[in-house]
Amino acid sequence: MLIRNAEIYAHGIGDLRIRRGHIEQIGSLTPADGERVIDAAGGALLPGLHDHHIHLMSYAASLSSVLCGPPAVADEPSLLRALSDAASGSGEGWLRGVGYHESVAGDIDRAWLDSLVPHRPLRIQHRSGRLWVVNSPGLDQISAAVGKLPEHERPGLASNGRLFDIDTALHQLPDATAPPVDQASRRLASYGVTGITDMTPSNDSSAFEYFARLQGSGSLLQRVCMAGSLELKAPDRQSAHLTVGATKVHLHQAHLPDLDALITDIGSSHRRGRPLAVHCVTELELVFALAALNGARDLEATAPATADRIEHASVTPPALLSQIQELGLTVVTQPNFVAERGDTYLDDLPAPEHPWLYRCASLLDARIPLAGGTDAPFGGADPWHAMDAATSRRAPSGRVLGGDERLTPEQALALFLGSADSPATPRPIAARAVADLCLLRRPWQQVRGELSSRWVRAVIRDGELIYDAIDEAPFEGDVSRDGVS
Ligand SMILES: [Zn+2]
Repeated sequence: MLIRNAEIYAHGIGDLRIRRGHIEQIGSLTPADGERVIDAAGGALLPGLHDHHIHLMSYAASLSSVLCGPPAVADEPSLLRALSDAASGSGEGWLRGVGYHESVAGDIDRAWLDSLVPHRPLRIQHRSGRLWVVNSPGLDQISAAVGKLPEHERPGLASNGRLFDIDTALHQLPDATAPPVDQASRRLASYGVTGITDMTPSNDSSAFEYFARLQGSGSLLQRVCMAGSLELKAPDRQSAHLTVGATKVHLHQAHLPDLDALITDIGSSHRRGRPLAVHCVTELELVFALAALNGARDLEATAPATADRIEHASVTPPALLSQIQELGLTVVTQPNFVAERGDTYLDDLPAPEHPWLYRCASLLDARIPLAGGTDAPFGGADPWHAMDAATSRRAPSGRVLGGDERLTPEQALALFLGSADSPATPRPIAARAVADLCLLRRPWQQVRGELSSRWVRAVIRDGELIYDAIDEAPFEGDVSRDGVS
């Protein structure tokens, strides 16, 4: 395949030839006999995007779920409408809602759901991902599923139907229909995403095999780095498309683990060649994570092979920046949360903390490697939204959260150009590199003024087109804002 007349990332205008999954040549090239030629017409050719923090199976499941939270559902009447519409459809199995937040209708519970949907099992996930609220038929099914788990793995089930951390029990449900992974994966491809890092803490070896099957059947188009439990192990024959990543530790400040036990786990993870990725959404969780990582480092003769990661770093007071930098940690942030949840942050969190939320520019200034992930389905899955939010820092109301943390469009793009192993370093487009590429309809100069996935024209993974809108008409009434045609 020959891509001609492209504005190649970090090169400038030129042609690029792909053969056997790799970039073969970059320069001024003539088509070979029978070679497929794509005229880029000056459009930017970027490394394929990598989402460094996503939950693929939950994202796929969310595509067949009822949206129960902002911005789509903002108040109790809209939630009632969304749920009764879904419940009035045919079908008797589970109804599943996602994205709930208490700003919609408060702390809803089993009785509240029963009054609306009494006959069919219903469960609604809080947007934090940890809490499910279920109705009575739902609670019956989950109780039965929990009974099948070994005793030490059984979560407590509160009779008010507000259930925390029940993912293992949900996997046991008899009618757990497979979520539409192919639809989710194709949608990610249409955003330019050629690789993902799946950050689901419960990922284990059976999840790994499941992902391998999805890739084998062609349902899952992206390459995947799977983070997960300490027990997660790749089989002997690992493919280049599916690798084992960090050990994910999910801290909850109300139930912090024993510090020494965590330090031991960090050591075990490093000895297996796996970095640690710690979920930190509060200041206390970050302080605790840094103490543990420091403790582990004191016991180790050499630094770990790849950098440990802080996921989210939602609240980073200035005093902690130098510690993060000295430990060589990479921060994986979600600028899209500013655009999606910024108003809740501005209204609910103390004003002095606002400048510390989902920081970007100050992390780069402190020489902390920074990468981006959408955290879909807990955030929107389109990385271009996240890039746009990183440059504008605007909440849905238009108010700005942490204006000093704005990135340039180039810095925002770079959040999604790294590899799974080196998330904060953009992958170069170079001869012999794997051909994972994202071709845009316009030159970067135009795209940088409107960071949007609507510019994505073709997406290539391992030299194969996984998204092809090459022959599509540009846009209806294709008028650009700055008058460049
Ligand atoms: Zn997450």
